Amino acid sequence: MSLYLKQVEQLVALQMIDDEIMQLNTFLKSAPAEMERMESRLLELKETVAHLKETIAMIVTQRDQLDRDIEDTGMKIKKSKNKLMMVNNSKEHQAMMREIDNLEKTNRGREEEKISLLEELARQEETLAASQSELTALQQEISQKKKQINQKLQSAKARLETLQGLRAGAEEVVPKPILSRYQFIRARLSQPVVVSVGEGICKGCNISIPPQTYNVLQKGEQILSCPNCQRIIYWSEHFAKEEETEESKAAVA
Ligand SMILES: [Zn+2]
Repeated sequence: MSLYLKQVEQLVALQMIDDEIMQLNTFLKSAPAEMERMESRLLELKETVAHLKETIAMIVTQRDQLDRDIEDTGMKIKKSKNKLMMVNNSKEHQAMMREIDNLEKTNRGREEEKISLLEELARQEETLAASQSELTALQQEISQKKKQINQKLQSAKARLETLQGLRAGAEEVVPKPILSRYQFIRARLSQPVVVSVGEGICKGCNISIPPQTYNVLQKGEQILSCPNCQRIIYWSEHFAKEEETEESKAAVA
């Protein structure tokens, strides 16, 4: 392979390496943010669960108080009814009857209150159960994701090191001015920035390059840029022929 072809080949390799490095760096940056989002969701859910538990405790206290009140009043009613049998005075009898009536009314009110309280308790407990199972699922998801992300981080870091090595190898082959041009356009143009030209058309911008430039390109002596989009170009046939030769060699072997 000529030096020119080797340089182009390494430029194409450099581009692939840089693309992968870019992807890995994006992942390395986004991973901690994703973890943070999950942790804050978890915290929110924990707060919801704590709040529900407080509400339920309050309802239970109210219910217990009602139970005690109902029982106390029930005892009073019982006592009054016992006394009632021993009273002969009709005025006193009527007064006690009214009192018993009132006490019974109070307790009926409390029973009604208790029913709606128990309904509310059931609703809150249902919500709590749902939140708790969501919390458990989320905790499992987070610990799994943490493991996955840590594994990915490790392999990404290892891969980055390999790529830096490959990159250094590619950089050695490409002449410095070409390398600077590559870096300059890579930072400014959409990828890829090293593109082939087939039948006179640049794959980067899909526009024909001038015939004179195309002729020079086909000679394969110097690295050129597309006059229209500034991307580094090479003739597609140069590499198609290389592949053919490699294939025929392989066939002979
Ligand atoms: Zn172009």
